[in-house]
Amino acid sequence: MKIAFVASEAFPFAKVGGLADVVGSLPQALKKLGLEPTIFLPWYSGIQGYYVGESRFDFEGQSEQVGLGHLEHGGVRYVLVGLPDFSRERPYGYDDDFRRFVRFSLAVAELLRDFDIVHAHDWQAALLPLLRNQGWFTGRTVYTIHNLAYQGTWGSQDFYAWSKLPGETYYGAGLEHNGRVNLMKGGIVNSDAVTTVSPGYAEEIRSPYFGDGLDGVLREQSYKLRGILNGLDTDYWNPADDRYLSQHFTVKDLRPKAKIRAALLGEFGLEDNPTLGVVSRFASQKGIDLIADALPGLLERGLNLLVLGSGEASLERTFAWMAAHHAGRVAYAQGYNEALAHRIYAGCDGFLMPSRFEPCGLAQMISMRYGTPPIVRAVGGLKDTVRHGETGFLFEYPDATGLLWGVDEFLRHPNRLEVARKGMKTDFSWEAPAQQYADLYRSLR
Ligand code: ADP
Repeated sequence: MKIAFVASEAFPFAKVGGLADVVGSLPQALKKLGLEPTIFLPWYSGIQGYYVGESRFDFEGQSEQVGLGHLEHGGVRYVLVGLPDFSRERPYGYDDDFRRFVRFSLAVAELLRDFDIVHAHDWQAALLPLLRNQGWFTGRTVYTIHNLAYQGTWGSQDFYAWSKLPGETYYGAGLEHNGRVNLMKGGIVNSDAVTTVSPGYAEEIRSPYFGDGLDGVLREQSYKLRGILNGLDTDYWNPADDRYLSQHFTVKDLRPKAKIRAALLGEFGLEDNPTLGVVSRFASQKGIDLIADALPGLLERGLNLLVLGSGEASLERTFAWMAAHHAGRVAYAQGYNEALAHRIYAGCDGFLMPSRFEPCGLAQMISMRYGTPPIVRAVGGLKDTVRHGETGFLFEYPDATGLLWGVDEFLRHPNRLEVARKGMKTDFSWEAPAQQYADLYRSLR
């Protein structure tokens, strides 16, 4: 069965968050199950593919040419779609993102003739199920919501001028939401199946609190909505063989972890105290501000804090300030740093993830795999993956008091080593989830 994955990120070629990990690793697991996945990705600058030719698509009523590239990674074929406005420093975060990804989707739709399943991810690819329904290509469509907070909305006038889709699709094909085009809504309404990345989040998003204005649509479409928990690339995220670690360890022998820890504390000039790590985008979703609010309580409890992340500028400033004022106890590394992320997962004593909402979350799974018990908010995929007092710690309230309660549970646990071990022994591989996707694809044929 031929599966087209269409997405804006795929590790190691373009990564902003967990979407990249999923698109970079799930297809490899599907391949092991005998499926034939191909990933369609924008040809961002820096990706080394080989040029294979060109294709055409219509945009703003004109026929445009697009260069195509190929590459193979982990046995999976990639098609790189070379649109000029994708050769920028970052995958997105620009004012014209909506227009760029409409162009990308229109260009990809021309390339999807031979697939049994087109699996579109997040708002950037959400137009594809509708294009299938408009007869642009055949095949069944699966749409996966990795994060409902980013829906891809824009004024309808521009959208219809760019895409030249028939105007009746606005109401008739469910693109309209609150007077604007909403690509994610279009993806949900027009696809044959909708998935999201954990069973917990699949439940939550049907309620107004988590539904981001689309809960009504999701309740209506709930017959085709299900949650499939993300897996991890357990070859890549492997403490026994991690290219970024100087020492390696397994559940049978955790001693080398202490050396990684000592080096990490030394690198950041931290005192020898229990150290909580954070690796995160700085967005309100992640509850990073709760960590700042809880800082006095963390320091009072004798803990250090080691934070890696970037995003909202005011949070970056807060953490830079805290690190400057509490040298020896708080350290902050701004930016995206793959190597340091691995050292934090491996070298800290606990890992903090106080998300306000969390579709699945990979960071907590990675920290468990590296024997670093996570302290997380009991929400979405976090509560599906962490077992309180067994593999990590869960707290309910999204405020500093809630977070510190979780930290106290961590501190007073009689056997944290056992918690670390149980976390390491948990199966976070793609094996079971990939089978669920394969079953879903087969059920649609
Ligand atoms: P989200 O997709 O919402 O950002 P996830 O927990 O699902 O959150 O995935 C985050 C991924 O991005 C993990 O692989 C994590 O290690 C990585 N990551 C996040 N911030 C950074 C950073 N500043 N440097 C390196 N890796 C990061």
